[in-house]
Amino acid sequence: MAVSLDTGSVTSAVDGARRGFLERFGGEPAGVWAAPGRVNVIGEHTDYNDGFVLPMAIDRACYAAAAPRADRILRVYAAQLDEMVEVSLDALVGPGSAADTRDAANTDMAPLAEPAVTGWGGYPVGVAWILRQAGFPVGGADIYLTSTVPVGSGLSSSAALECATALALAGVAGFELTTHELALHTQRAENIYAGVPCGPLDQMSSAFGQDGSVLFIDTRSGEVRPQPFDLTAEDALLLIIDTRVSHAHGENGYADRRAACERAAEFLGVRALRDIPMEELPEAFAKVSVGLGETYARRLRHVVTEDARVQQFVAILNHEQFSLPPLGHRMMQSHASLRDDYEVSAPELDLAVATAVAAGAHGARMTGGGFGGSAIALVDRAVLDEVRDAVRAAFAEHGYTEPQFFPAVASAGARRIL
Ligand code: ADP
Ligand code: MG
Repeated sequence: MAVSLDTGSVTSAVDGARRGFLERFGGEPAGVWAAPGRVNVIGEHTDYNDGFVLPMAIDRACYAAAAPRADRILRVYAAQLDEMVEVSLDALVGPGSAADTRDAANTDMAPLAEPAVTGWGGYPVGVAWILRQAGFPVGGADIYLTSTVPVGSGLSSSAALECATALALAGVAGFELTTHELALHTQRAENIYAGVPCGPLDQMSSAFGQDGSVLFIDTRSGEVRPQPFDLTAEDALLLIIDTRVSHAHGENGYADRRAACERAAEFLGVRALRDIPMEELPEAFAKVSVGLGETYARRLRHVVTEDARVQQFVAILNHEQFSLPPLGHRMMQSHASLRDDYEVSAPELDLAVATAVAAGAHGARMTGGGFGGSAIALVDRAVLDEVRDAVRAAFAEHGYTEPQFFPAVASAGARRIL
């Protein structure tokens, strides 16, 4: 069987980072740190509702080759953009105190009014900023970043970059970050410094990833329960279909959905929509329909049913008679809910999902925030070629950009690799 999927080589990426550092900065790096992208198997738009998610880290990662500097300068070079940012650590002071950012219960994620660096550089510089705010002894450093995570495809290239940068800063300065600290501070860097109101899903996936497992995460308690997810025994795989489109209204759409959920929770008198159990959904739906309007009620219904689907998915995984069709069924339900109730899908994602299933996939769904990005399909290896060819042909027929395909391989989380 001809299965020619590009898995992205770790060895060549590490070597590329080391050699890139040498060329750019002169001298050997003190180490290379890697942090993976992620794919969310099910549980979409639930993480900012204190709900459940089921992501896995993938074998695409951001690699940071780094060395300490004698002065207080931080230089970060991004190989994919061929751009460098340079800042003085001592100029990186901002509002907030060490106490504010060390406290996990402090959920004030309001963006900084005037970050010193904006654009892509805001991601790594934001990490240095937040770690300093939290009281870690960040020192001057040169960092060379190179990534095999496609940017803006819903696979979390931003969290990969943040986690790799945080580990590199800790590694060269000689301080430790626990996995929880890594996830928490990088999320805050993205929220506060880069100004992106993401929930904890992306950074937790990159930090906590495990080989061969999906991560069942309760985003309220922060509890992470790895669940074995080995599809080779089933002779199947999870196929990522990167549509390579990103619709312009995505950013507003995300903020709008988040605000709608907060408003619905407030209206219902609960801390977050996670607090509405399935049994109370019909009553809550009716109340919100009357009080706030039907659109809010549909947003509510997506979140409540999606939380339930994550729990059902995990129950199926743990069942002794584990089989793929019920998992595929939950994926289809998740996609329909995101498309119809939450309205965050896109024509390209709907086409990828419908075509993959018509060609024999057990199920498929959009993954990530939506409005473009990637879909995933649960596919028997026996029909992999058919699924891929059918999706490619359907995209061509619609005049869409050619999609890219690669397997989602459950991989280890952020770590030092050289
Ligand atoms: P994703 O779903 O890939 O995380 P985001 O919009 O959240 O999409 O983050 C993408 C942004 O992160 C890019 O626009 C860029 O600013 C930054 N970024 C991610 N990866 C890299 C990289 N390898 N080099 C430079 N910047 C990057
Ligand atoms: Mg991101």
